[in-house]
Amino acid sequence: MIPDLILIRFGEHTIKGRNRGQFEKRMIQQIRTVLAPYSSASISRSYGRIYITLNGEPYAPIAGRLKDIFGIGSFSPVKRADNMLEAIQAVSLEVMLGLPAEPATFKVSVRRVEKSFPHDSQQMNHLVGAHVLRAMPGLKVNVREPQVELRVEIQPEGTYIFSEVIEAAGGYPFATNGKAMLLLSGGIDSPVAGYLSMRKGLEIEAVHFYSYPFTSEQAKDKVIELTRTLAQYSGSPIKLHLIPFTDIQTALAQAKQDNLIITLMRRSMLRITQQLAEEAVALGVVTGDSLGQVASQTLSSMNVIGRSMELPLLRPLIMMDKDDIIRVAKRIGTYETSILPYEDCCTLFLPKSPSTNPNLNVVRKVESFVPELEEMEARAVAGKQTMEIAPEYKLGAQASGEDSWF
Ligand code: ATP
Ligand code: MG
Repeated sequence: MIPDLILIRFGEHTIKGRNRGQFEKRMIQQIRTVLAPYSSASISRSYGRIYITLNGEPYAPIAGRLKDIFGIGSFSPVKRADNMLEAIQAVSLEVMLGLPAEPATFKVSVRRVEKSFPHDSQQMNHLVGAHVLRAMPGLKVNVREPQVELRVEIQPEGTYIFSEVIEAAGGYPFATNGKAMLLLSGGIDSPVAGYLSMRKGLEIEAVHFYSYPFTSEQAKDKVIELTRTLAQYSGSPIKLHLIPFTDIQTALAQAKQDNLIITLMRRSMLRITQQLAEEAVALGVVTGDSLGQVASQTLSSMNVIGRSMELPLLRPLIMMDKDDIIRVAKRIGTYETSILPYEDCCTLFLPKSPSTNPNLNVVRKVESFVPELEEMEARAVAGKQTMEIAPEYKLGAQASGEDSWF
């Protein structure tokens, strides 16, 4: 079956009546980006749904991209028929035969919006159902719990027929819930945290701390690659701030409080990120912390680390198991990059027994003995390099697809 249209349904944001207009507008923007290479396709809105009329453009690649657009709950490939019984019957059968697997049971649900159509919806249920059953003898009707529901909507301009419902990303349209900074390491967790934040409508700017020459150029490339993958889901470039952390890390190591070094480093990262957030007008900081996963992610550690700044810390993975996190990482395409071997700055300084229960007063005291910590943090902010990372699928299509430094 070659669909004529795609019917798009909204995700959870439909419950938020007040912002609905803004959300729809943003979603349509995202869909327009997807459709850019397919100039014959067009978008229209009606009764809380969005339709793409394909006008001969290919369904499969467009559907592949729609799946990843935040705010889309589900969509369906739709065939159009003229408002005549025989045409509707024939196309209904075509839709049923075009299903990926033949179902055992089905039901027909006709909605007659065009009241001048000669048969009412009840009669149409039977007329269409009987026609399909004649051609598909293995099929049975089950009105209560059908495997497939064949929907037939008789509209003034034509009849829309569909049965397949494809789940999409859901959530809120990108950038409809404010902006936050994402602490992005090269690991498995933080890219997933970034994806889940964007899915909830957050716009993100990524922040990565590197310790050249302790960390390699490849570690940086890895983070650029991860940001690029995330940008596929935002549909627009993501800013990545690269922060030189070598001096601070070296100074903190000289405090000779091995078991506190990770706590000290994380606090410093957050203080720096808070300054970056101010410039970016971001109101939160996202991390890939998951409760109890490592020493720095015990409740006690998170308490001491979180108190280094005032912005809300958002931890989308906090209650997730590693297996579930890995599953998401594989699905969104960050996993393969994350497991590349290059270490990030923290792994290198990992002590033998990092504290799982640091004491806030002790930590503050140690910090007060580190000479020029505040100045070094200000220098780190000043020394940042910011890249704008464009989503990969756009690079080929754009004349100047290079990443821009500024
Ligand atoms: P990840 O897989 O995201 O690295 P992790 O389980 O390895 O997480 P940690 O290394 O303890 O955990 O880091 C916890 C969080 O701190 C990360 O998820 C990330 O948000 C942040 N983080 C750690 N290292 C860096 C870094 N070099 N730059 C920016 N953020 C970092
Ligand atoms: Mg890590």
